[in-house]
Amino acid sequence: MKFYNTKDKKHLVSLREAVVHSLAPNGGLYMPEQIPTLPPEFFKRAQTLPFAEIAFAVVKPYVENVIGEDQLEKIIAQTITFDAPLVKIEENVFALELFHGPTLAFKDFGARFMAQLLQHFAKEQKKEVTVLVATSGDTGSAVANGFYNVPNVRVIILYPSGKVSALQEKQFTTLGNNITAIEVDGTFDDCQHLVKTAFQDADLNKQFFLTSANSINIARLLPQMFYYFYAWSRLINKERVVFSVPSGNFGNLTAGLIAQRMGLPIHHFVASTNKNDSVCTYLNKGVFTPHASFSTISNAMDVGNPSNFSRMLDLFSNDWERMRESISGFSFSDDETKKVMQDVMKHSNYVLDPHGAVGYLGLKAFLKNNSEYTGVFLETAHPSKFLEVVEPVILQPVTIPDSLQRFLSREKKSISCSSNYGSFKKIVLNS
Ligand SMILES: *Cc1c(COP(=O)(O)O)cnc(C)c1O
Repeated sequence: MKFYNTKDKKHLVSLREAVVHSLAPNGGLYMPEQIPTLPPEFFKRAQTLPFAEIAFAVVKPYVENVIGEDQLEKIIAQTITFDAPLVKIEENVFALELFHGPTLAFKDFGARFMAQLLQHFAKEQKKEVTVLVATSGDTGSAVANGFYNVPNVRVIILYPSGKVSALQEKQFTTLGNNITAIEVDGTFDDCQHLVKTAFQDADLNKQFFLTSANSINIARLLPQMFYYFYAWSRLINKERVVFSVPSGNFGNLTAGLIAQRMGLPIHHFVASTNKNDSVCTYLNKGVFTPHASFSTISNAMDVGNPSNFSRMLDLFSNDWERMRESISGFSFSDDETKKVMQDVMKHSNYVLDPHGAVGYLGLKAFLKNNSEYTGVFLETAHPSKFLEVVEPVILQPVTIPDSLQRFLSREKKSISCSSNYGSFKKIVLNS
């Protein structure tokens, strides 16, 4: 399987190149050259297959001839070390809980799979791979934990000092070994700027094999298909299924669309967003006007110019009408989000996190006029990751799972750095 550049369809690369480089030339993204369909027997048997076997069948066509079957089995075993259960909230409404991984957010799926692939490719070359990531929170913790102790790979995480929640900070500053955290005296944009400058630094690139682990990497996108297949296989009523996806950069929704193209009978998608609604506006009005991001209580979705939108356009050949037939878009305010967290707590005794709450709202908005559907919304993070928002809303304490509690008692280790490139470079060279 080859991967093309969304900015230049004739530019084809191998899986290795797409994974190692993340971004395609001219700011394009990589997409699979073809989307294979799985045979009917697979769908008939899926209900009885373990999660790992479903994942294996789904991703195999994309890595064939690059990664052997035994190796792929190992990679999947290392990726999926936790379940993704469907929880019934009310009649025909299910939460797909994607937060049972080590950092309690769905990003664990993508980060862990990518770490395994990169390790595989790192073995083939002499230099150790250095992964640089700038984070405002969630990505850093998923990447740090996914790459922790992965041989031949070291990770350098840059984060803005004092601008990351204490809990998130603990998740990437307490690991040690091959994970180095750099606490930058500046903003997230400063961190991102340092990373971008490093990628253009000939001197650093000569000494190190530098790469990034950002969310647009195809190795983070592919494993996000796994749980759509798995969830569908476990639904009792599979007649008309709709998935509502709380979205920011739209990687999660794009993975669902690719799963559908592989033959998974999902009948409709709902793009659920907070006030950052550029894709919803496109779906409803046909014009795409990216904007600077607004801050909301579902902050992992505060994206004004979603990078995966170009992949979505490609999947529908830029045909607005066709995209609208498959995806409905709804956006919600913080007040609506808080209100529904209270309502669901009251009537179903279920604690939504602010992101899942937006997904639930979108699903309910769709079901209002389409009650014959079975609805699934993705619960993308555990509510304890957003304690400061959740507790005052539901007026109850949220239990922190043991896996998170463990991080809280560990000691933070970070290297302080100014936002000046020279001082950052010195740290990279010496660490
Ligand atoms: C990253 C994230 C999202 C948004 O996912 P996209 O793939 O960027 O649309 C939603 N919820 C949580 C908790 C996240 O961390």
